Amino acid sequence: MTAVQKGAGDRDVILPGGERTIYDYIPYAGEEMIERLVKLSEELHGITVQQVNSALVGGGVAEMLQSLIPIQRSMGLDVQWNVITGGHEFFRFTKSLHNFLQGKETALDIMGAKTYWETNAVNARLIDGTADVVLIHDPQPAGLIALVGPEIRARQKWVWRCHIQLAREIHQVTDYLRSLIELYDAAIFSSARSLPQWNITSYISLPYIDPLAEKNRELTDEQVQGIRAEYGIDDAEKKPIILLVSRFDPFKGHAYAIEAFELVRRERPCQLVLVGGTAADDPENQEIFEELQDRVAGRPDIHLLNLPPDSHLVINALQRAASIILQPSIREGFGLTVSEGMWKGKPVIGGDVGGIPAQIADGYNGFLVTPGPDGVDEMALRISYLLRNPLLAREMGRRGQATVKERFLITRGIWDELTLVKNLVTQ
Ligand code: UDP
Repeated sequence: MTAVQKGAGDRDVILPGGERTIYDYIPYAGEEMIERLVKLSEELHGITVQQVNSALVGGGVAEMLQSLIPIQRSMGLDVQWNVITGGHEFFRFTKSLHNFLQGKETALDIMGAKTYWETNAVNARLIDGTADVVLIHDPQPAGLIALVGPEIRARQKWVWRCHIQLAREIHQVTDYLRSLIELYDAAIFSSARSLPQWNITSYISLPYIDPLAEKNRELTDEQVQGIRAEYGIDDAEKKPIILLVSRFDPFKGHAYAIEAFELVRRERPCQLVLVGGTAADDPENQEIFEELQDRVAGRPDIHLLNLPPDSHLVINALQRAASIILQPSIREGFGLTVSEGMWKGKPVIGGDVGGIPAQIADGYNGFLVTPGPDGVDEMALRISYLLRNPLLAREMGRRGQATVKERFLITRGIWDELTLVKNLVTQ
């Protein structure tokens, strides 16, 4: 899917709409669910929703909005999407804030707060007052609420959606964020585990994947094997493929995946594929990619791929080509890559953090492992177990696919969001 990103002050991100409609999702969600969605959307005709985030592509939030907006528009809903713009310094600060909120023990660059407010002030033009509900994603644009005029604020409902795992022990920073978020009318969190005790009406709504998106649609075996071979990866029949797809980020656990893989590889042939890329709002990616390059240099059977942010088809094919999918995060808002892997019928081994345990039932449709260095042996043990028991691995994969069909498809996400919008505008 291609899209045009417009800058601050422009009305909207233009997405090519009309390719898919909500009715295309009947085979996945069932006719009854689609009828309920259509009925709910009809009740909201005439209501305008404005979504604001900080990246058009790259990362889970952009992934969801890219699918959500065209479908909602096809349902006759007036949905507007704006992406804030900012300089390098702004995104360095917001990434350090993100890391800090997720518990990384580094000093927060307090001086960056000035740039944060300056950038939010420039982007405040995006809030032109035409929307009934404004949905702000993550901390980057969260400051906008403090910058709109009182008349506009009074006639709009503002919702903050948190896609990160808040580590509650960092009180000074969370208290600062808290005072900002408590200006909102409601907040949405991706996991009950990171629900803060703030004075705000809070909802838990788990993220979702789009089964018809380029990232998840069915592919032929020829397509899958063709793409796998193009990247120099051996056939999983010969050498099982263990895959990790994640931005190059300190919380995604790349190093632990490498250590666990090395333990398994001593016993049996297998390959590790680390797929990552960059996000416009994440300046750390390149540094971490280079560190990983050094770490894997000269090690056989490890493929490290730094792909452009729109490599959906390639990632889809590699997820389908994989034998086992890893997501050994040490902090995780939700972890869309877990549902993506499960949807492709793969057993997923994930860190027991944030939204991952909402997706993986340990030992049923995948495995949960202790996050961080203490989980490396456990992860290696689980990988070996799945490699030794391919029938069981397939069964876990089938169960994972059923879990996603039941709970993590976009239709449920649309239902949650429209129900919330209805609650807010009829209050
Ligand atoms: N992704 C991608 N290219 C990459 C790395 C990740 O397209 O190089 C996608 C991945 O398939 C998933 C999303 O970005 O759809 C990541 O979402 P997740 O919730 O797992 O993590 P986040 O990046 O939001 O922390």
